Amino acid sequence: MRLSGRHTMSRRDHPEVRCSDCRMPPSLCICALEPRLETRSRLLLLVHYREARKPTNTGQLAARCLVGSRVAIVGDRDQPLPVPLVAAAETAVLLYPSDDAVPLATFAASPAPITLIVPDGNWRQAAKMGRRVPSLDRIPRVTLDDPAPTEYRLRAEPREGGLATLEAIARAFRILEGDAGPAVEAALLDIFRIMVTRTLWLRGALPADQVVGGLPGDDPSLPAAERLFQDERLRS
Ligand SMILES: [Zn+2]
Repeated sequence: MRLSGRHTMSRRDHPEVRCSDCRMPPSLCICALEPRLETRSRLLLLVHYREARKPTNTGQLAARCLVGSRVAIVGDRDQPLPVPLVAAAETAVLLYPSDDAVPLATFAASPAPITLIVPDGNWRQAAKMGRRVPSLDRIPRVTLDDPAPTEYRLRAEPREGGLATLEAIARAFRILEGDAGPAVEAALLDIFRIMVTRTLWLRGALPADQVVGGLPGDDPSLPAAERLFQDERLRS
């Protein structure tokens, strides 16, 4: 987001002031809308350190919604990875489309709960993580074989397969969670669509009536948000 310090908006509406959890501007915060999803499978998100603080990161949004998720930052010297990253007793798979990857559905009937490890970063960062995190060596690689297209419109170059990280996680949980899978996937995609369309609206790329779930504020915050939108557009 491009913003100079020369505008007169209140601090509350300043886009650089962002919610520390969802990283949306406070007037567009989605935290209260995030579902708390109890699942049998667990997510272990490996976030590249360059990716971790981006407002458009979707992997951490999924992790906040899936109860029991773990998030590890990769590549930050000040934050070493937990040891062991994956306990010996865990049945873990790494979502990564290497040549030896097998369909995730192979593990859908696993008697033990699955730990789904998902690298979160661009294609190159994810490939590096797969190679540089030694404890991932012996973990089977899995892929999604699902042709449904992405709805992610916030970045020019989405990740491999064209899916945002949250979309990949949502599809994986649909596969792993059996009868509950479709509801878990739908709940994740609902909050994803809210985040994506609010962000597009903020950028001036989507009209207000196309924001999923509407904008927060059939109340006094809406005019403030609209002023903010117009200030944004004047500068861009
Ligand atoms: Zn928030």
